[in-house]
Formats: sequence, structure tokens, C-alpha cells
Amino acid sequence: MCCPGDLWCLFLSLQVLLPVYACNICGKRLKSKSSLSVHLKLHEGKYNYTCPLCNKGFSSTYMLKGHMSWHTGVKEFKCTLCPKEYRYSHELKQHVMKKHVLRRDVSSYNSS
Ligand SMILES: [Zn+2]
Ligand SMILES: [Zn+2]
Ligand SMILES: [Zn+2]
Repeated sequence: MCCPGDLWCLFLSLQVLLPVYACNICGKRLKSKSSLSVHLKLHEGKYNYTCPLCNKGFSSTYMLKGHMSWHTGVKEFKCTLCPKEYRYSHELKQHVMKKHVLRRDVSSYNSS
């Protein structure tokens, strides 16, 4: 330490410590440490796709597309048997299985 107790020195050291959260791989600057750590996951190959609107990372275009519907409000996957709409095709599949296919099976099982 150069001059312990010196406020100016403290100020200078804070300046150094004060964050420019820059990615050491691509040089991108992030607002916070946590967003930097999220960003770094991109380079780990964990997330290959990022949302251009909120910078969230996703492992596939499928997940990114589903996430984008949160911004656009558009639900692409519509149930053909009822008015329900879903953001992900797997959600629609689950819904159809639970609400339509399985129920039909159960009712036909009960009636026979
Ligand atoms: Zn980076
Ligand atoms: Zn987003
Ligand atoms: Zn339905």
C-alpha cells in the first residue's frame, strides 16, 4: 500500500476497482458482474444464441424462438382442439397429450 489512510489514494484504488465489466474474450462491456458471468457462458459453448432484446442466452434457436414470444406476445403453437396457445411446441404437445389424448383414452376406458 502506498499511503495508508490517504483518502486520495483510496479514491484512486477505488477507480481501479470500479467495474468495467469487460469480457476478456470478445471485449464486450457489461453493466454488471452477473451479466458478465452470463455473457461468459456464451463462450463456454453453453449458450449459442442470445436474445437481441435482453441478451439472455439460449442453447438452441428453438428455445430462443420461444423466448422471443415473451417480447412479441405471439404464441405460435395453437391447439387445434381448443383455443389454447403455447410458446413452445413441446408445451403444446404436452397439453394435447394431457387435455385431449389422455382424457379421451381415460373416458373411453371408463365407458367400456
Ligand atoms: Zn465475450
Ligand atoms: Zn429477450
Ligand atoms: Zn387443447
